This record gives sequence, structure tokens and C-alpha cells, in this order.
Amino acid sequence: MANIKVFGHKSPDTDTTGSAILWAWYLNNHTTTPATPYVLGELNKETQFMLSRWGVPQPALLESLSCEDEVVIVDTNNPQELPDNINEAQIVAIIDHHKLVGGLETKSPPTITMRPLACTATLIHDLMGEAADTLPKEIAGVMLSCILSDTLEFRSPTTTPHDKAVAEKIAKELGVDITAYANELFAAKSDVSDYTDSGLVHLDSKKFPVGEKNIRVSVVETTTPIAILDRKSGIIAAIKHILEAEKDTDDVLFFVIDILKEEATVLTYSELTKKIIQSSFEVSVTEDTVVLPGIVSRKKQIVPVLKV
Ligand code: MN
Ligand code: MN
Repeated sequence: MANIKVFGHKSPDTDTTGSAILWAWYLNNHTTTPATPYVLGELNKETQFMLSRWGVPQPALLESLSCEDEVVIVDTNNPQELPDNINEAQIVAIIDHHKLVGGLETKSPPTITMRPLACTATLIHDLMGEAADTLPKEIAGVMLSCILSDTLEFRSPTTTPHDKAVAEKIAKELGVDITAYANELFAAKSDVSDYTDSGLVHLDSKKFPVGEKNIRVSVVETTTPIAILDRKSGIIAAIKHILEAEKDTDDVLFFVIDILKEEATVLTYSELTKKIIQSSFEVSVTEDTVVLPGIVSRKKQIVPVLKV
């Protein structure tokens, strides 16, 4: 039987990487279908920390995709976040918790599971059924990390009681203190000293059509926003280079999410970004940054309200 390739989105985060690992583990251990997890780019510091903390090998980088490849897509359904030739592959399943954007095509009927949970790993927990009650330590550790990362330790308004209950169940089994472990994850995430300005813009970045425009929405979640805001002029210069290089991107919105204060600071460096932020969030913008209190979730609080 073909070996199924399981992967999530470009600019891989903890949930996308962890969910690929979790679903490939489930297929290998509880079904007759062999599978291998992959990632579509370099891993961020938080995800690297998770893998070393639980002793899980880093998934290989997916170099190319052929029309014979059978794939399971996790944590996205947006073709802009997947390999260019994704529609040539045999997409057998999609497991996701994002809005349906359209554009994926399959060769045969796929299994699609999408639920409004905070985290793909929570959904995978449920799809595993009884197998989720006997997870090896490292697999349970990955699942817990995904939930704490995507919910920002239950602070994000995307969090459902079910995400919280699954995380608490796993943490108890592992003997892990949730707050202490979440602090370790967020400390790893907040160390951005190694990234270039352009690397920061691409760290967690997704493109969405907004009216007639195609907008790249980048977020950096951190407990130390000053470390990023101090680099504002370099980041703005990097965005200008990205806009010149990416012909299908009309603008880049860059949000610094303060995990602890639960607020976002967005860079408003051009007439278009000022206009978008003013009309989307009903704030008046005079400087090249503006603080948006209570805004922490791109999925639930940023993308749904964006208008040009
Ligand atoms: Mn993700
Ligand atoms: Mn996710």
C-alpha cells in the first residue's frame, strides 16, 4: 500500500507539525495504512522545543509532490498555504479547524472532517476514538503542546470547553503542570533573536482574499512584544521587499500579539494598511502602529472583520 504523506500548512506552527505527527502515528499504529509526517518549511522555536522536550524526531521537509502521492492535509484547507501542485496529488483526507476557503480539488471522494475547535489536535484526539486513551507519552505530549499553542493556554476566544477538557485530561495523565509547561512553550516562541526581519514576517503568515485584494496576514505571538516592536523599521523595510517580490500580494498586515496582556499591536506603515485597520477595527490611526485591546486570534478576531 502506498505510504500516505501527512502534512499541514506552509510557515509550519506547532499544531500543523504536531497534527501531522499525531495523524501519521495513528495511521501507522491503529490502521493498516502506513503514513509519514512532513512539514512544508523551517520549524519555529516553539515547535522545535516541543519536539526536543518529548523526544520526537523532526518530520522531513516535503521537497516535492507527485500526482501519484496520496496525501492527508491537516490544519488548513487553503491552497495558498499548500504546495503549488496540491490539486495534482491524491488528496484522501482533510482534517481542519479553519474556515472553508475553497480552491482544493480532489480526484476521488475525500474524507473531510472540519470542526469549530481551537486546535486540529483536539479534532484528531476525537477521531482516534479509544486509541486516544492509551497514547504513548511522547504522542500525548505533542497533543497537549498543540492545544496549549493554538489556544494560547486557553486565552484565545477560539478555545472551546472541549479543547480545555482534552488538554487537562492529557496533562493529568502526563503529570504535567499546564501553566508551567505553557510558560516554557511561550518562552521558546518568544525568542525571535535568530530571525531576520523578513523571517519574522514569514514566521506565521497566511494569505487571504479581502474584497478585490489579496492580503498577507502575519502574526507573531510573544510574551515580550518590545523585542519585536524595537525592530519596527527593519520589519517595514522587509515588508516592502516582500511586496515587490510577491506579485499576487497586495499588502501585508503585521500583528504582534501580546499573549499575556491579550492585545495586538499592528503596523500601520502605509495608506492602505491605515485604511484597512481603521475600517476593520473602527479605530483612528495616526501613527505607524496601533494597539487593539483584546485581539489575539487571527482566525476569529482578525480575518473575519478585515475589509479594504
Ligand atoms: Mn496552524
Ligand atoms: Mn491549528
